Amino acid sequence: MTERLYYTDSYLREFQARVVERSADGQTVYLDRSAFYPTSGGQPFDLGSIGGVAVVEVVDEDDRIAHRLAAPLAAENEVSAQVDWARRFDHMQQHSGQHLLSAVFEELFGLRTVSFHLGAESATIDLEGGPVDTQTLQKAECRANDLIFENRPLDVRFEDAREAQGLRKASEREGTLRIVSIVGLDRSACGGTHVRGTGEIGVILLRRLEKIRQSVRVEFVCGARAVKRARADFEALTKVSQIFSAALDEVPAMVAAQVDAAKAGEKARRKLELELAAYRGKELYQTAEPGPDGVRRVTQRLDRGNLEDLRAVAQNFTALPMSVFLATLEDPPSVLLAASADSGLDAGKLLKAALTEAGGRGGSNARIAQGSMPEVSALEKVTRALRLPTA
Ligand SMILES: [Zn+2]
Repeated sequence: MTERLYYTDSYLREFQARVVERSADGQTVYLDRSAFYPTSGGQPFDLGSIGGVAVVEVVDEDDRIAHRLAAPLAAENEVSAQVDWARRFDHMQQHSGQHLLSAVFEELFGLRTVSFHLGAESATIDLEGGPVDTQTLQKAECRANDLIFENRPLDVRFEDAREAQGLRKASEREGTLRIVSIVGLDRSACGGTHVRGTGEIGVILLRRLEKIRQSVRVEFVCGARAVKRARADFEALTKVSQIFSAALDEVPAMVAAQVDAAKAGEKARRKLELELAAYRGKELYQTAEPGPDGVRRVTQRLDRGNLEDLRAVAQNFTALPMSVFLATLEDPPSVLLAASADSGLDAGKLLKAALTEAGGRGGSNARIAQGSMPEVSALEKVTRALRLPTA
């Protein structure tokens, strides 16, 4: 059985221990006592070193703690070990921050915390028992920070499960419970590592709110993470504000105005495009010589681009009497055919027949049709099949 030194002293960073067992490869070791926290209750494992070898994972195996190492540990019995303090203290700030925040949500809004996850960048709690909106978050954030400024003591006590009273969440464990309290606010059964007073949490920032089935997930950052996050937010916002040459607080209004302006610009561009297509269609019609049958034929060839761009021109051209419009595109190989109602031609049928012969596909209605083919070599074949002069 491993004596868990972090149970009574979260601030212990260095300790001596005896190796009681090691795996055959020497990369998993068990000690008689350990300050290394194993992943449990939402809090990730500690890093550090044992006998000078890096610890890569710490696993809770009920009575014992398994320490997985980056390399085999030399065959010695007494070892000195160090806990990566920056990582541990960060976890302490987030975990104590979670107890505080959960207590505040319960106290102010009767919202129960049903789960906790401590990630690499931020932590989350899932709440149940009522709606949560941005105002709820703002009030909880404000109250939690007030309690941080009060620097309320946190303490750890061991109590018999049958006698433990006033726990925020009933524990299913039997025997001795480890109870972490925030004086005058919260009592929770917890095996995690915590700071001595709420002041050490530093500050708490609530961030994203996400609906997950019947609960609501609240993202938060405490202490140094909050500072790091606020710095990243500031830098991102500063970049945006420089683009708009605006003060930070004016950025949201500036962005909204720009989006509106871009939408209006796009609408105006589309309108002009259609107007231009109408002029081009008429112009092409006027310059096209009618054939012996009185039909005006025109062919437009594009190397690359989009036949859609010519669709409006084709429609405007064939809106005029006795007219046929053909457009070809090399990349990707495709074709567009339009015919006026009085031309006697069915664009859809004609194109479909020509395409089928060339291994392509497409079609549409009698007035305008579009299709594509697998290779550019088929394009000439289709054009010939449509028997149109190459204008
Ligand atoms: Zn806890």
